[in-house]
Amino acid sequence: MKQRAFDREQLYLRLPVQLQHAACSVEGLRAHNRRFGGDFPALLADAEERSGWTAEQIAEYRDRRLRAFVRSAAASTPYYRRLFADLGLDPASISGLEALSQLPILTKDTVQAHYPELISSNFQPAELIPVHTSGTTGGGLRFATTRRAHQEQWAVWWRYRRWHGITQDTWCAYFGGRSVVPLTQQRPPYWRYNVPGRQILFSGYHMAPDTLDAYIAELRCRRPPWLHGYPSLLALLAAHILDCSLELGYQVRWVTIGAENLLPQQAALIERAFGVWPRQHYGMAEAVANISECPLGKLHVDEDFAAVEFLPNPEGPGCRIIGTGFTNPAVPFLRYEIQDLATVDDDGCPCGRPGRIVAHIDGRHEDYVVLANGSRVGRMDHIFKDLVRIREAQIVQREPGAMTIRVVPRAGYTQHDEQLLRQETARRVGTEMVVLIEYVDVLPRSKAGKLRFVISELDAGKLDRITL
Ligand SMILES: [Zn+2]
Repeated sequence: MKQRAFDREQLYLRLPVQLQHAACSVEGLRAHNRRFGGDFPALLADAEERSGWTAEQIAEYRDRRLRAFVRSAAASTPYYRRLFADLGLDPASISGLEALSQLPILTKDTVQAHYPELISSNFQPAELIPVHTSGTTGGGLRFATTRRAHQEQWAVWWRYRRWHGITQDTWCAYFGGRSVVPLTQQRPPYWRYNVPGRQILFSGYHMAPDTLDAYIAELRCRRPPWLHGYPSLLALLAAHILDCSLELGYQVRWVTIGAENLLPQQAALIERAFGVWPRQHYGMAEAVANISECPLGKLHVDEDFAAVEFLPNPEGPGCRIIGTGFTNPAVPFLRYEIQDLATVDDDGCPCGRPGRIVAHIDGRHEDYVVLANGSRVGRMDHIFKDLVRIREAQIVQREPGAMTIRVVPRAGYTQHDEQLLRQETARRVGTEMVVLIEYVDVLPRSKAGKLRFVISELDAGKLDRITL
């Protein structure tokens, strides 16, 4: 299977550019039908209707689906049949969100180790769609889902986009990790067209100071009203526009971001360059949680999509996000540890849409640095909040009490900015931390094109000795 995918990609990359455009459209049409065919319009209409429900109605709906999902997991998968037996627990006792705490947390490692036992006997292999996650750390995860589960997820994603006025026929400039342009290609076009999906797929792997003018020229020519993608890539484009005082020549109406956590400094660059504040949603292939930004800028938990728990984080600030999706009965994940942190906001939102409110997604579990005394400090993105003359930044830690900040400076970056960076860093991690600042032209990205914000190369054994 893996071999075949590899061959297909190799074949694609050898095609002439015109055929690559055609191949993107063929694949785009296939994805379009898989996502938006069949029951999708009804699923979207139902999801939109639930936007107007009260908190009580949505909680009742969530718990009802959760109960059916847990029952099905316990009856049709060897893993959960055994788990409930070992715990001496009746699946019917999981009556709602709160009752989930009777079950253990499911980690990615457990899923990988026990995958065959997690597959429900209620589905034939032909009914299943393979999913794989790229994973910023460790290996990716491979599992199966159903077409309906896939469409329910797309319905919740499109509900959020439609809250902001984006319609399904809107042309989108996509800046993400798909490798649509061969790495060896050294001149434009650094993009391919997916006509049925209304997308200009820009390559995230060719974005450099001397190629970005071509990206801008393509945007100026096609005028897509909607930019979507990784915030680190959109911020690169934004910084280039600002540095070179370029005019896009048209008004972008929407910028939406996904896949990476949005850093405040990236949001500021994007707003300055495009004149709109980037909107975000939080979701993942495992479909165990979804959080969507409303037009008032608040992040609503999509309670009708998954049963989401926010548990205390024993290692520092923020809450661990634990999710139980109830859309994919083929491979049920109960209380899945997503390894992301969030801060919950108890104030609610005046927009009237239901769902608990999250003040911010705090990034990955491992996005912290360790002080000399062993304590951990998270939310390092705060440091860069007002440092808009930094194009991008990354923190690398190899030993407790010392860290390196890799900085790609923008034009006009001066000694004063470095001083500010040092001040802000000291405010976050104290003055004892040894901070090295390293200036680089580009930052390394993962295989999927994502930018890791904090890279920790701490020796786990050494760390344990210090924290004990
Ligand atoms: Zn709201």
